Amino acid sequence: MRQWNTPVVLAALVCFWTAPFFSLALAGEKEASPLSPGGPGRDIGAPYAKAIPRQWGERLPGVVTRMPVPRQGPKVLFLTLDACGGRRGSGVDRGILELLREERIPAVIFVSSVWLRDNLALAKELAADGLFELAAHGTRHLPASVSGRFAYGIKGCTSVRALVEEVAGNVSDLAGLSGRRPLWYRSGTAFYDEVAIEVIHSLGLRVAGYTVSLDEGGTLPAAKVAEKALKAESGAILLCHLNRPGCATGRGLAVALPKLKAEGAIFLKLSDALPRGYPE
Ligand SMILES: [Zn+2]
Repeated sequence: MRQWNTPVVLAALVCFWTAPFFSLALAGEKEASPLSPGGPGRDIGAPYAKAIPRQWGERLPGVVTRMPVPRQGPKVLFLTLDACGGRRGSGVDRGILELLREERIPAVIFVSSVWLRDNLALAKELAADGLFELAAHGTRHLPASVSGRFAYGIKGCTSVRALVEEVAGNVSDLAGLSGRRPLWYRSGTAFYDEVAIEVIHSLGLRVAGYTVSLDEGGTLPAAKVAEKALKAESGAILLCHLNRPGCATGRGLAVALPKLKAEGAIFLKLSDALPRGYPE
């Protein structure tokens, strides 16, 4: 009987599972991914096609708005940066990235495909840097609606099919960039309806809300950003923006983050396990 060469079989399996993620929208190709409406993923949205959403907000069930951490032990914080793009700006606050690298503070960066295309070289660099975890933020940075609901003046997806396209296209772009499928998704504007949340879960993603909006869309002064960060409780998901270099967010973080570290706070990415030895 023929003996299988285990490493070869494993390599073939890895190629089989990952190949669809490498050739999609970044190159402008029209191939169908396993998650896209044009491929087998059409079935993913089908069970929800006639569902009528009744809720709309940022903190619906299924949206993770804080991380589970033990009551005892050092404060654990989860810094997240949105890289929105388009009308929301495709800029880069390089000062924030420098600060995080200098302080060795990890962060999850939610990257829309719009921002990704405008900052491709940097996105590749971030994907290769273990300090950062890249997560999905939508193909067009739209609110996660299935019925065209608005948030902050932006019209959300108008159907389940459009939502699947919005999410899966971005997942494919990010997977094509890094070779790793993102685990987390935050919609453009962070608004959801309950049908959208189910669809997103069925795509294999966790929905990242937030505990504290540090910069409120880049509108707060540095002192307020710092104050909010310093007051955050253990388990908090901190949200601020990477795409607004003209804002005071970076200056606020530069005050708060070193101070939090000096006070003993631990920073983790959303997909990190708690450090070894952390009290149960
Ligand atoms: Zn955004």
